[in-house]
Amino acid sequence: MRLDKLLASAGIGTRSEVKKFMKLGLVFVNGEQATSPQQNVDPTRDEIFVEEERIQYQPFVYLMLHKPAGYVSATEDRTDPTVLSLIVGYEHRDLHIVGRLDKDTTGLILLTDDGAFTHHLTSPKHHISKRYVVTVNRPIEPTLVHKFASGFSLGKEDNLKPATLIISENPLMATLTIYEGKFHQVKRMFEKFDYEVTSLHRSQIGELTLGDLSSGTFRELTAEEVLQFKTL
Ligand code: URA
Repeated sequence: MRLDKLLASAGIGTRSEVKKFMKLGLVFVNGEQATSPQQNVDPTRDEIFVEEERIQYQPFVYLMLHKPAGYVSATEDRTDPTVLSLIVGYEHRDLHIVGRLDKDTTGLILLTDDGAFTHHLTSPKHHISKRYVVTVNRPIEPTLVHKFASGFSLGKEDNLKPATLIISENPLMATLTIYEGKFHQVKRMFEKFDYEVTSLHRSQIGELTLGDLSSGTFRELTAEEVLQFKTL
């Protein structure tokens, strides 16, 4: 981000005040005097000082990862590789996972160090949609669409909200949109009606899709994407 923007949002002053500080030679980036307000800096890596004061600019980090199969949704694990091990360059941030995926599930997973954001996204009050591409072991009967749309119970206290099931041309596959995130929810929904989920992929959360993000890679969410989630 631009140095003047970073300093302004860190409370150092308005952009024009920040410019004046630079003219006075008071701003340093990695030990070098900064002269251009347009200079690009990385607030997570660069050491920025105004006079003797280190600028503690701590914007939250919001990442989306295309999770491959075989990785567990944990920050540490004794036996399996974790999704966090795929996030290189953010080791100094205290990232956590926003809503887990099973080890064998692939697809979109979010990570952040913003607890309020996680709470907002995972709170059952907010009904944020999650879309999955599901493959099962036998052709999906059309009646399942209505069963899922009416909501049903997975057991004590586990009453499900209506979910949208669209059966694909290949009747072993479907797209399922749910508005909550109970433990192994998708697999349990299908199991309830004697289907076994043979592969599961999360393609979308809210409006956010994986786009062309390839498996095992990640990127930061844009400010607009973060805002979109916050206003859901
Ligand atoms: N539902 C499941 O059963 N597993 C997942 O990984 C995600 C949703």
